[in-house]
Amino acid sequence: MMGVMILRIIKKEHKLCLICMEEHEVQMVEVGESAMKGDVEISFQAIYEYCNRADEFLETEDLIRRNSSAIKAAGIARNNGVLEE
Ligand SMILES: [Zn+2]
Repeated sequence: MMGVMILRIIKKEHKLCLICMEEHEVQMVEVGESAMKGDVEISFQAIYEYCNRADEFLETEDLIRRNSSAIKAAGIARNNGVLEE
């Protein structure tokens, strides 16, 4: 993922990493992201699991649900003018 900035580490857990399929400490991170909604760019915070061995992010089913509602909420806020400068 290019241009993704890790804002904070939410938690670290030693478990089977689904990215590299080895057991190690997997981080759950909050990242700042942006997405296009129509022709409008919206910014939101997404949560991913992060493998520091492969340097890759993983979006589990729970996170997909959580992240898509974050996008939706950001889009609604944008439409209501909350995010307008
Ligand atoms: Zn891993």
